[in-house]
Amino acid sequence: VRPLVSLVGAGPGAADLMTLRAVERLRAAEVVFHDRLVDPAALDFAPPQAERVLVGKAPGVREWSQPRINRLLVAAARQGRRVVRLKCGDPGVFGRAGEEIAALAEAGFAVEIVPGVTAASAAAAEIGRPLTDRAARRSLLLVSAHPAEGAPPLDWAALGAADATLAVYMGVARAGEVAAALMAGGADPATPVAVVERAGRADARRTAATLGDLAAVIAAQAVRNPAILLIDPPRRAAGAAAAPRRAAAAG
Ligand code: SAH
Repeated sequence: VRPLVSLVGAGPGAADLMTLRAVERLRAAEVVFHDRLVDPAALDFAPPQAERVLVGKAPGVREWSQPRINRLLVAAARQGRRVVRLKCGDPGVFGRAGEEIAALAEAGFAVEIVPGVTAASAAAAEIGRPLTDRAARRSLLLVSAHPAEGAPPLDWAALGAADATLAVYMGVARAGEVAAALMAGGADPATPVAVVERAGRADARRTAATLGDLAAVIAAQAVRNPAILLIDPPRRAAGAAAAPRRAAAAG
């Protein structure tokens, strides 16, 4: 039997980029807990009588703490209701899915994961370019610029030296710090960066920048969340040490 609780990816915010399985789970839902970034059209797949609960965490908004969301999910499962936890993108990418799965497991409930189109995929599609190719983009790193409270900062110098495309989530507010940390680690300021807002949606916008001008371009173009940064595998700046120095980390 299928678990009562499904962690469902809603994709990047366009209903037609949802999976058929996601739609099927929504159609069977009795309660849907959804994020702020989920397209309202996605919720229309749930039956009219299904309860819809917005549990979005906006920056600075405290009322929907993760423990509270976990408790709500467990309480709904205990009532024997079919629960859909709808998250934007893929539920397993920077979605705190692990904490929800653990809370449900502790209460004795199994969880099904329904994958979704993550923002990096949608952004690459938006700029008409593959996320990887066999020559110049041989690896891909999904990175969050927003560390958990108390977590050690990321080693941006090492990330910049990894010869990988960096897909930076939650990076708009910290773009300047991220770029500075990468450059301090030896990345060439001319390294191309694609900034993609609202990837996958009708009002998507793409902005081209470089590491060197990223913060200025984001400010000048008034880039807003949700947006993702696709940083090309950073080239080494002329004269940069071969081994990356430990850069002052962002965040
Ligand atoms: N689980 C999601 C990511 C959640 S973290 C996924 O797999 O995509 C939230 C961050 O995702 C945002 O700050 C932004 O960086 C990115 N994001 C989500 N939807 C986006 C979209 N449509 N376009 C660009 N970035 C998006």
